[in-house]
Amino acid sequence: MDKQRDFVLRTIEERGVKFVRLWFTDVIGTLKSVAIAPAEVEGAFTEGIGFDGSAIEGLTRTYESDLLAHPDPTTFQILPWRGEIDPTARMFCDITTPDGQPAVADPRNVLKRTLAKAADAGFTFYTHPEIEFYLLKAGASPEAIEPVDHAGYFDNVPGGTAHDFRRRSVRMLEDLGISVEYSHHEGGPGQNEIDLRYADGLTMADNIMTFRTVVKEVAIEQGVHATFMPKPLYGEPGSGMHTHMSLFEGDTNAFYEEGAEYQLSKVGRQFIAGLLQHANEIAAVTNQFVNSYKRLWGGDEAPSYITWGHNNRSALVRVPMYKPGKSQSARVEHRGIDSAANPYLAYALMLAAGLKGIQEEYELPAEAEDNVWALSEGERRALGYRPLPSSLEDAVEYMEESELVAETLGEQVFRYVLSNKRREYQQYRSQVTHFELKHSLDII
Ligand code: GLU
Ligand code: MG
Ligand code: MG
Repeated sequence: MDKQRDFVLRTIEERGVKFVRLWFTDVIGTLKSVAIAPAEVEGAFTEGIGFDGSAIEGLTRTYESDLLAHPDPTTFQILPWRGEIDPTARMFCDITTPDGQPAVADPRNVLKRTLAKAADAGFTFYTHPEIEFYLLKAGASPEAIEPVDHAGYFDNVPGGTAHDFRRRSVRMLEDLGISVEYSHHEGGPGQNEIDLRYADGLTMADNIMTFRTVVKEVAIEQGVHATFMPKPLYGEPGSGMHTHMSLFEGDTNAFYEEGAEYQLSKVGRQFIAGLLQHANEIAAVTNQFVNSYKRLWGGDEAPSYITWGHNNRSALVRVPMYKPGKSQSARVEHRGIDSAANPYLAYALMLAAGLKGIQEEYELPAEAEDNVWALSEGERRALGYRPLPSSLEDAVEYMEESELVAETLGEQVFRYVLSNKRREYQQYRSQVTHFELKHSLDII
């Protein structure tokens, strides 16, 4: 730890860093930042930097508002978009109370607690996300948004914005120490995807927060608008954040078993069973906005039913095809989570659901071989496929009854998410929408 702190202090000196931004995340997943002068960094390491927690969404109750941000030196990076003049760096922070206790509502802490539980059971949690987002023309009003192109899946768009955008973003991510595996145009007009190379759960949640910032910065640089909204365009695909997950015991992938069906071990099967069993309870976090449910129920390769399958893209959980000799990459893919989720809380809940499946030895139901969307309601019922929540309201009701979610998030975050999401749904419900006016104004 001290070595790492020394490295940070030395780099600040050598590179002439003028500002250090301390980053942390609120409960909904908004990145917060406070810049400190280089001379303050040593003190920040030893004592933390004080701030008013009551002004941050969900972080404290007002009567215990003083909090401290403690930068994690292992996350030190110089921000490439700030350029060479007055270099600026950033570190992610852990939040504590003045007496040094981890702040119960710090999302990073929620994930750390859950990772510690996995570690107690002997597991390290690895993930890699495929992050989808839309590029829209800048400056349009919300009613008149327009994508930057009309290309589709894997399209090569000559002279288009998308290539330049992805190249610049990928370079910046690499400069920040975040490896990228693939990037391509996605199915919707203006929709793109960038896939990050796997990392442990905490590093990846930090990486996702950085990723969103990079994409927004590049968008500003290139005069476009980037959005991670789950379903920005009616009739076009939504933006998912499919997440591939595995558990390792030391160097051994606990999801791999030679000769088992799909080379998927019992631990892997139980992990999937946990994800399925608790899918509805965790949905208000994996899919946290009113708009998230327009994606889940809008077709276009987003799941609507709680099923799993081998290479089945309509399933909530997919077991990707096993590549011979690659036991390290045996994994499961969660296709439900969307690009607007708070990665710390969502990953904590996905991991907790999977671990529960392992601890309680859940039985995995039969795999869905069919295209789940093509079946009739009756066929789905006969096969026992339960639907995902159809709205945020529905999801909140499931979550409220969930011991797993209450325990994993902790009472304070649990209560905060419930009331915040209920408020969002109430506001939404009171709107008179364009659809209603078009549908009913002239006929009633
Ligand atoms: N955009 C789709 C979704 O909302 C996923 C497409 C894909 O398979 O990558 O999840
Ligand atoms: Mg995709
Ligand atoms: Mg995928």
